[in-house]
Amino acid sequence: MVLLLVLLVCVAAGALYLRNQGKTNPVSADGMQEPGQTGTFAQNTPEPSASIFNDAKFETADHSQIYEGMLILVNSDLEYHFPDNLDAMGNLYDQKTEYYEVSDSEMYLNQIVIDRLNEMTDDFYEAKGGSDLLIASAYRSYEHQQRLFERKVDEVGEKEALTWVTRPGYSEHHTGLAIDLSVYDVSTGVTYPYDGTGIYSWINDNAHYYGFVVRYDEAKSDITGVSNEPWHFRYVGLPHSLIMQEKDYCMEEYMDYLKGFSYEKPLSYTTDSGEEYQIYYVSAQEDTTQIPVPQTGNFELSGNNSDGFIVTVSR
Ligand SMILES: [Zn+2]
Repeated sequence: MVLLLVLLVCVAAGALYLRNQGKTNPVSADGMQEPGQTGTFAQNTPEPSASIFNDAKFETADHSQIYEGMLILVNSDLEYHFPDNLDAMGNLYDQKTEYYEVSDSEMYLNQIVIDRLNEMTDDFYEAKGGSDLLIASAYRSYEHQQRLFERKVDEVGEKEALTWVTRPGYSEHHTGLAIDLSVYDVSTGVTYPYDGTGIYSWINDNAHYYGFVVRYDEAKSDITGVSNEPWHFRYVGLPHSLIMQEKDYCMEEYMDYLKGFSYEKPLSYTTDSGEEYQIYYVSAQEDTTQIPVPQTGNFELSGNNSDGFIVTVSR
């Protein structure tokens, strides 16, 4: 009986070994032997965790999936790859609340972003009584960005235009995950630039709780390539916005940081309200990638828009 058991264990171990052959991020054998390590880590302290190794399965991702998801990084070096359809988008005009305005009846955003934006502006109204925010820009098609860019080129020439308007294909607005805020005075019909001061500082101080980050901070303009834009918010989702806020990382820095975490050694993060997350990077293979994920617990997959995937596990 004991012999049989030993034999079974050996067969199982052998199968696992074979299964992991040729993968860049194999299941950690160490982790599998330490099922007791499922503790809660100190907030934001990266430590090896065994808790997600005990029940691995593999998710197959096509290479094109590196261009999709809430964490894709789009900047002047990383072009956006447009999907075939706009199924993920919702009409902002149809779903907006009475607590903010939109500049057009044809404005689209990723549906998740609309939901979070509505929550944030509801809470902003409750906290500060402000209901004069204007969503001045949301999703932009390639053609839309091209029109903006060409108009600027006609005005000031291409070199100067590039410092004002992003080249078509490279705007974060293509993703449906970014918004520009303005302030709209209903009584006069005048629109003011949003600078995040006064009652609006509530938005800048709280956006990360709703999954948003101020994308282009003055202090990070060397890295982002964009000067101060206090009105441009990007949705990345929780807990990423919280971690970026705590570490004072812009998106470029955060995506670099996440590359230091693997399935074997994920970033473990516990929110103040006790939600536990584990985050790790998996580099993309040429064709399809086998991505290790836990069998239990929820996980979200996002491409990074360059060379791999970020897995966010929540329990
Ligand atoms: Zn913008």
